[in-house]
Amino acid sequence: MFKRVFNSFNRLFTSEQEPQYPQHAVVVPRDQHSVSRRQLSRNALKVMKILNEAGFEAYLVGGGVRDTLLGGAPKDFDVATDATPEQVRKLFRSARIIGRRFKIVHVRIGREIIEVTTFRAGHDTSADSNASRQSEHGMLLRDNVYGDLRSDALRRDFTVNALYYSLDGFTLHDYTGGLQDLEARQLRMIGNPRTRYQEDPVRLLRAVRFAAKLDFEIEPSTAAPIAELAPLLSNIASARLFDECLKLFLSGYASATFARLREYQLLGQLFPASEQCLAEGKPQELGLIERVMNNTDRRLANEQRVTPAFILAALLWAPLQRALAEQQGQPPAAAMHKAAQAVVEAQLRHTAIPKRFLITMREIWDLQGRLPQRGGKRAERLLEHPRFRAAYDFLLLREEAGEDLGGLGKWWTQYQNANEEERLAMVGKLPQGNSKPRRRRRKPNKPRPSTD
Ligand code: ATP
Ligand code: MG
Repeated sequence: MFKRVFNSFNRLFTSEQEPQYPQHAVVVPRDQHSVSRRQLSRNALKVMKILNEAGFEAYLVGGGVRDTLLGGAPKDFDVATDATPEQVRKLFRSARIIGRRFKIVHVRIGREIIEVTTFRAGHDTSADSNASRQSEHGMLLRDNVYGDLRSDALRRDFTVNALYYSLDGFTLHDYTGGLQDLEARQLRMIGNPRTRYQEDPVRLLRAVRFAAKLDFEIEPSTAAPIAELAPLLSNIASARLFDECLKLFLSGYASATFARLREYQLLGQLFPASEQCLAEGKPQELGLIERVMNNTDRRLANEQRVTPAFILAALLWAPLQRALAEQQGQPPAAAMHKAAQAVVEAQLRHTAIPKRFLITMREIWDLQGRLPQRGGKRAERLLEHPRFRAAYDFLLLREEAGEDLGGLGKWWTQYQNANEEERLAMVGKLPQGNSKPRRRRRKPNKPRPSTD
């Protein structure tokens, strides 16, 4: 990965386990690390070059450096610079300043967006409440105090996310021991973990996400406060939490992430009703979610499409069953409608969910109730439903998880593979109630539309 250029990184600890960081970075020359320009985004390199030529510092940082060092393909590339957002914007025609809590510049080159951030400093160095604000829980409400490279490194979350790559000699710069942690496959918070989680509780989720994605161990003092501080997530805007949920479950490591979310008692903050059901320990309910997570990871690995609606349908399936049980005596469609409504309403108090995903999730649920009803023309019609495929996949996973649906999944598999004649025969063989065509009751006085 990189040759050892230092034997021990001097991470000194005070009695409060407050790490001290050196004034100067450990600089690893090009011939002693494995990051080559060929592995990096040409567009990110171009952005860095333009910044350098305008007299600014520019470094590649974050996942782009971390994942390249680990031999993987980075998802995106972030650049850190001493140019202010306004200065960056003036250099690039395609630049847009976004964000309030964090001002970031998006530079679009072709189809790629390079995120350019100005070096930040710790918020305690500024008395300017316009630039930096903190809530009563110690949460950073605004973080736009600019600083130098070292202060920028120290305000990042984990040591492996604070490695900087420079075009000046193609060197790596490390202030926090990130290279050592990368080699030891450890995720370590920079600074005092408790304080850093309090500043931004989303770091609790990021810890679990990176540990799962990188298959790293969470270093003990970084792991220790997670479960206890988990309730701080209730202070995070529900839309930001939903964005994080997408990253947790749609980055290709949903399965490992889900297990760790439960281990660190974070699932209950995101999906409290689901966690409550899972705590009852019914293997089928956990089994369904695990299968859906595995399935999602597999589809992403094969570059197949995935929808968050499918994952949400699985996560909230057990709460839906509890809510349905409370609707006994109601006609099935009405019961499903009311139960789904109640589950969704409760969930939206914790995470936002865009309407389009809610609609698809509810269609998948509705179809679970309709797939057993195959008589007459119903099977044929169900096959035409735009969500049939998702609903059928969901049904198979329910059966795989141990639900006994009387061979319904197998029936639908055969039906899809059968020709017209075979399909008719299959429907004909269904037990009575199911094979009778649905009788439509007409309103007595309504005139029938003319057909000529
Ligand atoms: P990936 O893009 O693969 O999810 P990443 O490490 O690039 O991983 P981003 O969310 O793109 O993560 O953020 C880029 C960098 O910005 C991080 O590596 C980290 O240094 C810093 N960062 C992002 N979010 C936070 C945060 N909440 N607190 C502190 N630093 C952060
Ligand atoms: Mg990134």
